Amino acid sequence: MNVLHGYLRSLRAMAQVGHPIISESVILPLTRDLYLDSLADLEVYLFGVRCPLAVAQERERARRDRQQGVPIELDVPEFDLAHSHGPYDAEVDTSMMSVAQCVSTLTSALERPPSAFLRLRAERVASDDARPCLFCEVVAGTRAAHVVLETPATTAFMDQLRQPPDPAHVLVIPKAHVENIYAVGPALGAELFEAHALVARAVKRAFAPDGITTWSSNERGANQEIPHFHLHVYPRRVGIPYPPLLAKPETPVADDALRLSAERLRRAIDELRD
Ligand SMILES: [Zn+2]
Repeated sequence: MNVLHGYLRSLRAMAQVGHPIISESVILPLTRDLYLDSLADLEVYLFGVRCPLAVAQERERARRDRQQGVPIELDVPEFDLAHSHGPYDAEVDTSMMSVAQCVSTLTSALERPPSAFLRLRAERVASDDARPCLFCEVVAGTRAAHVVLETPATTAFMDQLRQPPDPAHVLVIPKAHVENIYAVGPALGAELFEAHALVARAVKRAFAPDGITTWSSNERGANQEIPHFHLHVYPRRVGIPYPPLLAKPETPVADDALRLSAERLRRAIDELRD
């Protein structure tokens, strides 16, 4: 993924100084958002260059420039995924069209304004809006979570995806659907911060980490993944790398570990409040 980041950065840099760039890319669902965000302010045409799988496999067998002469395997699901983005600004089938026909089809598409990339971006925004909010579901009790603290306007629960060696990474959220910090008013802010500080003291008391990092990420540009404001409380140990390396797709942390941590934190909160 980091290699792709670097690649897209150089594409942008070249395009921004006026170079027309042709990129031969396979955009899979996993990397789609990265393309949509990285190239957002550029004029981007999407061209589908395809042929039937059998023809592609035959061509792969014929080439000797991959992996020291060993042709790569093309498997059907991945091949279909790579070709699932249409409609493109233009598409060519190289098994049926000559090179000259392909060139003329793609060239004439360049005379129209691009639309496929913009459509993909619009679809992404629409699907984000339609998706139910995971954290509102936690507040409503329709999604399971290990809650450690509840106040009239806030709730705090164990992060289900990322836990350091001391499994006490907690998220503190407003119960109301507030998208990010820009919409947090003074009363809610005070209650959130009080809950946040209490959770941090409880993590310190129950797990005795060397330190605690707290943060919030706001908007996509800051990698906010769930559009419902949340403050992180994250215990640290000297010598443990931070931020943690993420493997995508991330796998949930074992429920038992989260339950035990939540119990320890609830006990610590009770003690702190006495
Ligand atoms: Zn929400």
